Amino acid sequence: MKRFCPVSFLKICLVHGPFQGRYYLLLMKVSERKSNTFIEIFEDYWGSFKEKYPAYNTDHYNSVVSKALSCGDPKEGYIRYHCMYCGKDEKVIGFTCKHAFCLRCGAIKAMDFVEEVKAKMYDGIKYKHLTLTIPEQLRQIFYKNRHSSKLFNRLYSAAWAFINDVFKELTGHSKLKPGCIMVIHVTGRKSNWNMHLHIILTMGGIDGISGKWIEVKNQKPYALMRFRWKKHLLNMIKDFDSSVQMSFLLRKLWRKYNNGFIIHLDRRNVPKGANNLMAYLAKYLFRPSISVKRILSYDKDKMEIEYEYADHETQKIQKEKIDVLTFIGRMVQQVMPKGFKRVRYLGLHGTASVKKCKMLVVSAIRNPERLEMNLQEAMLVKRACNLSFREKIMKWKKRDPLKCKECGREMELVEVWIKEKGKVFDYFDELRRAPPEIQLIPSRKVKVESEPMVQQRLIA
Ligand SMILES: [Zn+2]
Ligand SMILES: [Zn+2]
Repeated sequence: MKRFCPVSFLKICLVHGPFQGRYYLLLMKVSERKSNTFIEIFEDYWGSFKEKYPAYNTDHYNSVVSKALSCGDPKEGYIRYHCMYCGKDEKVIGFTCKHAFCLRCGAIKAMDFVEEVKAKMYDGIKYKHLTLTIPEQLRQIFYKNRHSSKLFNRLYSAAWAFINDVFKELTGHSKLKPGCIMVIHVTGRKSNWNMHLHIILTMGGIDGISGKWIEVKNQKPYALMRFRWKKHLLNMIKDFDSSVQMSFLLRKLWRKYNNGFIIHLDRRNVPKGANNLMAYLAKYLFRPSISVKRILSYDKDKMEIEYEYADHETQKIQKEKIDVLTFIGRMVQQVMPKGFKRVRYLGLHGTASVKKCKMLVVSAIRNPERLEMNLQEAMLVKRACNLSFREKIMKWKKRDPLKCKECGREMELVEVWIKEKGKVFDYFDELRRAPPEIQLIPSRKVKVESEPMVQQRLIA
């Protein structure tokens, strides 16, 4: 269904009635939607990119890219809502890809992430934002191993061991259990390969022996942290790659970085108020790699792209002009290996023992009321993460996407169509097949289901 065909339109109107006819027009409008520059770039050059860099020609990358390109396109599957009262409004919602690589779904994932973090953070405890960097000379080994989760997983383990080590040293408690939320970033602001870890860290932990909360009092543990991070990172890589060249490089780095590797510990505490936390996390932890707005120009013939980014050091907006294949490379290098978990909750924030940890933290800081609040919040957040697309739009955009523009009533689900299976639900067909007494009722309530629910039901 690519171009508008008046004959098809008339046929549809005659056979199925004006509802279907209008729907056909609507679908035309949606399918001819102007694809944004990001999609355009991938449509034009993804094939050439794979030819030049065959390592990316795998099922995983192909599926991520093709799903993101057709995300929300009704041609891939959709749900249709219709106003059964006045018949004048209709909404077609294409299935989304739900991958972080997709600019649209990435933004929704980021919002879900903030809600999740908000629920996980304990009341009455100070949190700091720690960034662990990796020296330039070692970024290459991560780049070489970017198609597999192995080395990335080891990096998380090394960072967790480093935190435990530093906290024991700072507090003098050998059985201290802190908590943290870690997120890996493989690129810097410029979207170039620059790996680092962002960590939201409790500034203290529960002493395994006394069960008391022990706070980290030292406000400037930088020197110790820098040195210990160097030790843990180098040991991890030594263990991963025991080649002669690597040993040589590691020894060289050990001598060169006398003061340890660079870390950033934000002097301010991580804010906990909903809006502040959202702004903070969005700025540091879950910003999208590049937004379409930041692409300034795309010259298809010259194969050139210009985009802007906020420079971390100068705090100014910088521009960068690169060829299209480099641009695609910078974007796809951010796709993590299949099944890889980018956000990790560790220690007191470990997902396996959330309830148990909450009890521990609350009794350690001796305020039972806080437990109640946290559990309630956790429930709310769980609900927020499971919100349907409609609830999400109502919450964030303060409007009901299913409200009829003409009469203001709620529209109802009338059709579900899936590319591989075709039409799997049609309200009008059902109505035609229904016994005459039901057919007389002008509007039968159809339960409105969220898109993920419909998908789940269909898969099941
Ligand atoms: Zn998507
Ligand atoms: Zn209406």
